Amino acid sequence: MTKALTIAKFGGTSVATYEAMQNCARIVVGNEATRIVVVSASAGVTNHLVSLAHTPMTQEQIGDVCEAIKAIEYAILEKLQDKTAVEAKLNDLLAEIRELAYHEEILHRDDLKDQLLSMGERMSSLMFSQVVAEAGQSAINFDVRKVLRTDSEFGCAAPQLETISELAEQLLRPELAANIVVTQGFVGADDQGRTTTLGRGGSDFTAALLAEALRAQVCEIWTDVAGVYTTDPRIADKAHPLPELSFEEAAEMATFGAKVLHPATMEPALRQNVKVFVGSSKEPEKGGTWIMKDCENEPPYRAITRRKEQVMVTVKTPKMLYAQGFLQKVFSIIAKHKLSVDLVTTSEISVSFTLDNPANSVASRLNRETIAELETICDVKVEKGFDLVTVVGNHMQTAKGVSSKIFAAVSDYNLRMICFGANPHNMSLLVNEDNSAEIVQKLHHTLFE
Ligand code: ADP
Ligand code: ASP
Ligand code: MG
Repeated sequence: MTKALTIAKFGGTSVATYEAMQNCARIVVGNEATRIVVVSASAGVTNHLVSLAHTPMTQEQIGDVCEAIKAIEYAILEKLQDKTAVEAKLNDLLAEIRELAYHEEILHRDDLKDQLLSMGERMSSLMFSQVVAEAGQSAINFDVRKVLRTDSEFGCAAPQLETISELAEQLLRPELAANIVVTQGFVGADDQGRTTTLGRGGSDFTAALLAEALRAQVCEIWTDVAGVYTTDPRIADKAHPLPELSFEEAAEMATFGAKVLHPATMEPALRQNVKVFVGSSKEPEKGGTWIMKDCENEPPYRAITRRKEQVMVTVKTPKMLYAQGFLQKVFSIIAKHKLSVDLVTTSEISVSFTLDNPANSVASRLNRETIAELETICDVKVEKGFDLVTVVGNHMQTAKGVSSKIFAAVSDYNLRMICFGANPHNMSLLVNEDNSAEIVQKLHHTLFE
């Protein structure tokens, strides 16, 4: 029988400073099953890298951003017991950042952008491996690109599961006997060895993918909150942590905006039946949320989520009354650009649907391309300024009174679109972004307080 294996992932705030990293190291050292650690970039670093990759800047501004990144890393470096162990490597990585940031094609080449975006995790994993070593454990900094094979969709690369599993067995497993392996979340490489990234917040996904590949029993997601809450505690102060969740509920929450988990995290966990734990790296004693296949109960309301930056697209053709193939054409254009649509309403002459549109994301570029193509076949109206508020639960379409209770709670607000009944786990409302926080608070009050 193989030994119990836990993979622990630490998010950006958990590895933001030397002191925060020490909390994480205590968690790692405290559980002998934890042999693989996946880290995010230290808080703030990826945002800086995104601005270098996406925003036209003067040479001086680029220099300032590079200095801001260096300051975050040096604040950690200076506190290490033995900084000479990593200083030269860190300086090499900082030099690589400058080189990429000043590269004349950085704003236009997606491969260069991903190489730049990966640098935060490459630095934080280097620093954290030294913090673990200083906590008395033998630790190595492992380049995840050796095993995390993806396609070449820079910015939102898709993992190639079989290859990952083979490479992880071959190159990663042998390291576990003697070392704690510290590696990078969010980052991968295509079959030509070019660096790719999995999309913002993708380190959770990395941890779940490695857990699947190495058939770990547990994947821990350590973050800045003590579990998955009934809603984002930053929106509703009475939100409270959920002791347990099913894979389906967690996947639904993540898809509809619970930032605490990257939307794809549950897929590998579900396939390999890996239990996922979410807890606070600062206050591990508070416990957290266990996400697993079977939960003790399946309440009709489990949580409320919010996803920001939604656009509503309405396509209209006077010919639609007669043209039966119109809907098919619209959806094939959407499918061609690999977009997923969450809410749809149709009438005789028009179709409205929502698209996820976060700034500087691959999705927003694809949205622009899709809309341009739709404009060649019909009238297209694009409206911005919406958020999607979703109530997540179980058997919602058959439980009595679910929709009336939700509608009563939000009766003061304008709902632009509603999706209910297609899926037993959710009811989604498209609302004006100015009202979304209040709507979440009202729903939370009605359903959970
Ligand atoms: P990390 O950097 O550790 O990956 P994230 O910022 O990505 O952390 O995710 C943690 C944040 O997710 C929390 O600070 C919280 O504001 C937000 N969040 C949104 N919805 C929820 C929820 N339902 N439960 C807990 N946290 C949530
Ligand atoms: N550092 C990446 C980001 O900020 C990935 C992650 O934190 O999960 O999006
Ligand atoms: Mg995250």
